[in-house]
Amino acid sequence: EEVESGKQRTGALSRQFEGGSLAVRDVHLSYGPVEVLRGIDLDIPEGSVTCVIGPSGSGKSTLLRALNRLAEIDAGTIALDGTNVQTMKPERLRARVGMVFQHFNLFPDHTARQNIMLALTRIKKLNRSKAREIADAQLADVGLLGRGEQRPANLSGGQQQRVAIARALAMEPEVVLFDEVTSALDPELVKGILTLMEDLGERGMTMVVVTHEMGFARRVADQVVFMDEGRIVEIGDPDTVFDAPKTDRLKRFLAEIL
Ligand code: ADP
Ligand code: MG
Repeated sequence: EEVESGKQRTGALSRQFEGGSLAVRDVHLSYGPVEVLRGIDLDIPEGSVTCVIGPSGSGKSTLLRALNRLAEIDAGTIALDGTNVQTMKPERLRARVGMVFQHFNLFPDHTARQNIMLALTRIKKLNRSKAREIADAQLADVGLLGRGEQRPANLSGGQQQRVAIARALAMEPEVVLFDEVTSALDPELVKGILTLMEDLGERGMTMVVVTHEMGFARRVADQVVFMDEGRIVEIGDPDTVFDAPKTDRLKRFLAEIL
């Protein structure tokens, strides 16, 4: 049966994470004539949890994708630990800034273990036995001990998302980006993933989390970013953003979702 509490992890890798920081300065990004990011300034401190909220189409996913160059920016700068990400090989950047997606993006023809091993052998150039060792330890760390032989189709949505998180963590990233990672899950599986993410945050992982889970954002975030129409409209600690919104746009957004 599915282990749905992060607290039940076997904790094989229950390490404290070493984080990284991101500095986003006046970032612009257009798709054709449409400017989707319209001057983003944001600091992601090492070891912090940043939750990004905002209406559909406001640019949240695009911002996340810009941070690891799945989307290329047109102007401005993004620095990882002080190094402009434009100067880095995208593959290397993505090893340091991992990402977890709404629809898991696992390879269906690979087992859970193989999904995790792939990047370790191809990008980190680890030999197979070392990659396998890390993959199994990482699976145990997300509550999937003994599930390495399973293919995604034989796992629940929650378990598939755990594999995707394990895959990101196996690269020992300095930052992990989460894009609505619970939105495709059955309701009863959401809490387990949120608990796992909360645990990662408590262990010092630097995280940027796009989410509709306002309870999670309020409880876990160090800062909450409200985006609308390609801009950061409000940013602050959760109590300020949720209890004392300054703009009508945020007040309206909160009234609609809470
Ligand atoms: P959110 O994640 O907040 O819902 P997105 O970042 O996905 O917003 O999208 C912001 C805007 O950019 C939307 O209008 C969307 O249609 C557009 N967009 C996103 N990705 C692409 C793309 N690859 N090509 C063209 N337009 C895109
Ligand atoms: Mg999105």
